[in-house]
Amino acid sequence: MHHAIILGMKIREINEFELIDKLNEMCREYSGIGTVLAVGDDCAVLKSTSDYSVMTTDTLVENVHYILPCDRYLLGRKALAVNLSDVAAMGGIPRHALVSLGLKGDTEVEDILSLYRGICSIGRENGCDIIGGNLTGSATEFISITVSGDCSGRSLRRNEAQEGDLVCVTGHVGAAAAGMNMLFAGEDVPAVLSNAFQDPVPRVREGQELVKAGCHAAIDISDGLFDDLGHICSASRKGADMYLDRLPLRDEAVQRYGEKALHYALYGGEDYELIFTIPENDAKKLSFDYSVIGKITDSHEGVILLDKDGKEIKDQTGWRHFG
Ligand SMILES: [Mg+2]
Repeated sequence: MHHAIILGMKIREINEFELIDKLNEMCREYSGIGTVLAVGDDCAVLKSTSDYSVMTTDTLVENVHYILPCDRYLLGRKALAVNLSDVAAMGGIPRHALVSLGLKGDTEVEDILSLYRGICSIGRENGCDIIGGNLTGSATEFISITVSGDCSGRSLRRNEAQEGDLVCVTGHVGAAAAGMNMLFAGEDVPAVLSNAFQDPVPRVREGQELVKAGCHAAIDISDGLFDDLGHICSASRKGADMYLDRLPLRDEAVQRYGEKALHYALYGGEDYELIFTIPENDAKKLSFDYSVIGKITDSHEGVILLDKDGKEIKDQTGWRHFG
């Protein structure tokens, strides 16, 4: 099918099979060599390349997770990025993705091609082939993606943090929430903040290095630093001291929001950075930048926030509410 036919067409005006052909063509164009038989048959046929696989799935629903109109290319990138981030948090190597779309009849075909271009582009950047999926009509648009990855024997779990481990985080925290709030307020947003929200980078390479370095536990930040570190603590039956003055905030977020930038860092979520716990000596071997933000303890009180003098900040609800 020629591109010109698609311009200005809506989903209800195009033959379903033509659209599927077009999307399959794009997937093949972007895909690597690891797949035996990808899109276009009843199933994808895959060659196993490791003893263990990891699998994860995530769904984005219109008006729940995103609001139209929006940049479909970036939406596609983020829809796959959140799954790649989960694979990264296990130390896996992303391999394959299945994409299911629920589409309304009045959607522009070109918008769906943009969405797919976004999905395929971040897939290629991370070695993840799009090997198939499903299209269906729907009153509400949704994007559901399932990703599988290879795992070299050991994976990074949430439940293996040990007392004395450093608590570390990649990149910056709170930038996504700051960027989202500025975007929704219609403000001029510094690129580092809008990108953090709209185009997060899954920490795939870092996750694989953490497995080899002897990292004990890891999780990616979707709910927020405080809650996600809390998940490690409860799964590992440990506690954590977190030093608030060590959180890696973006200067741009602090300039715009002052102390509230710290609130976004703790509770904002969607940063898709990795929180990991690791013995100090193993942390020294890591080749990428990270921040040490705390320590695992034998406490059973979950995450304890400490100020710059090491004093406990008791009123966590105060932190939660001052935003
Ligand atoms: Mg996760």
